[in-house]
Amino acid sequence: MPSAASLALLLQELDHLDLVTAGPQLQQLSQDQFSFSPLLSARLHDCRADVVVRARCREDVVFVAAACHRHGVPLTPRGSGTGNYGQCVPLKGGVVLDTSAMTAVRHLDPVAGVLTAEPGCRLLELDRQLQPQGWALRLAPSTWRTASLGGFIAGGSSGVGSLRWGLLRDPGNLLGLEVVTLEAQPQVLQLGPEACRGLNHAYGTNGVFTAVTVPLAPWQNWQELVICCPNQVTALALGEQLSASALEIDGLAYLDAELMGRMPPLPGLEMPSAPCLLLIAAPAALAVIRELAVASGARCCFQRDQWPPSGLLMRELCWNHTTLQLRLQDPAFTYQLLLLPDPVGPVLEALSARWPGWLHWHLERVRQAGRPRWVGFALFRWAGEQQLLELMAAARELGCLVFNAHALTVEDGGLGVVDADQVAAKRAYDPDGLMNPGKLRGWLEQPQA
Ligand SMILES: Cc1cc2nc3c(=O)[nH]c(=O)nc-3n(C[C@H](O)[C@H](O)[C@H](O)COP(=O)(O)OP(=O)(O)OC[C@H]3O[C@@H](n4cnc5c(N)ncnc54)[C@H](O)[C@@H]3O)c2cc1C
Repeated sequence: MPSAASLALLLQELDHLDLVTAGPQLQQLSQDQFSFSPLLSARLHDCRADVVVRARCREDVVFVAAACHRHGVPLTPRGSGTGNYGQCVPLKGGVVLDTSAMTAVRHLDPVAGVLTAEPGCRLLELDRQLQPQGWALRLAPSTWRTASLGGFIAGGSSGVGSLRWGLLRDPGNLLGLEVVTLEAQPQVLQLGPEACRGLNHAYGTNGVFTAVTVPLAPWQNWQELVICCPNQVTALALGEQLSASALEIDGLAYLDAELMGRMPPLPGLEMPSAPCLLLIAAPAALAVIRELAVASGARCCFQRDQWPPSGLLMRELCWNHTTLQLRLQDPAFTYQLLLLPDPVGPVLEALSARWPGWLHWHLERVRQAGRPRWVGFALFRWAGEQQLLELMAAARELGCLVFNAHALTVEDGGLGVVDADQVAAKRAYDPDGLMNPGKLRGWLEQPQA
């Protein structure tokens, strides 16, 4: 924690900036959506910044970075604060640097389909600006309306679009970053695709983004579909068949019957209490999707244009919004994230059989390392840490990779291994370890000089 003396000096220097130093707003801007995890809630509930600085421009960021370095005060960047793992919660107090007011689009190349924008741009807002030009973001979390571009790159992992474009960290999904370093004289670096790798999904532990460059996808009049299936086996087989076909599908989720029955209704649809696939698909794919559904004994019970987005969106029943909708009814629900092996059916059966009636299944289809896979959201009422550990162990024994949704560090919430690029970037851009301390395990574990 920074000393009172260094904080007092820092506050004097920051006095001309937009600051929050007390009150409920300070508490609110020190937190994110970690309440999905009872373990993280207990750990993070009382964490609070000493001051939140709302940066308006790159110069503000450089000024704050230099001042934090001078006084040895931790700095934690923040976008919209929708992360689930306490990514932007300052474990050691200090400054939370809120970049959500930095919302300029710096450059759109309408021929190549490449966008450079400031980190605070909200993703849906960007899509609203891109749509008239025939372009769209490739990937977006289900928090499309609220999440910021910088926060998604630093804290997100995947989302709608991941069936076509893979996971956020796959090479090609991030083309460039403008980054401010945390040094005595902060540098403003322009990093290309290769140099960005160590900052992608690093929770803002190794540089503050002041601009982000991403490739775009041609805009489509995506259609939202609900396909009602007779049982889980049919639904999963149909999902696999659809994602192995030549159909353009931006999102494909499976919700079991109990989950479907608990989701808020899409307009005009009585939500079926049956296993369902939720799809976001290109208009040209619809006829074939319907035919394949009917051939497998399923039926399409809902179709709507995704654009313009209004009311409850299909994606707000998918990804971690499924968990959110469930928790709105019963806050005892939480989740664990699993990359499931093929074939998926026996794994779901084995886990469900071990804890009868406890687990509910929501699956998302993604492209991982070039091939379609299921990511499983196992949803359950919290039954203590021991049972969570047993679930994780059982899942690993069955060949699942656990992305632990109850962990604080970049590594433990991801593949579980230290990424040398991320640690090297921290050594280069935050040599004193002041950025978002406690979140990069590879930095904490490195041998001390
Ligand atoms: C209901 C719900 C559904 C969700 N669905 C998805 C999903 O589908 N896919 C997914 O990946 N995530 C999902 N999330 C998690 C989260 O919404 C996304 O990861 C989102 O993109 C985070 O953006 P944010 O602006 O809120 O970032 P924040 O939470 O503010 O920050 C995230 C991380 O980015 C860092 N950061 C923020 N701005 C900067 C910057 N300028 N420079 C450097 N670092 C920065 C922060 O320090 C923090 O570590 C979901 C969360 C909820 C609550």
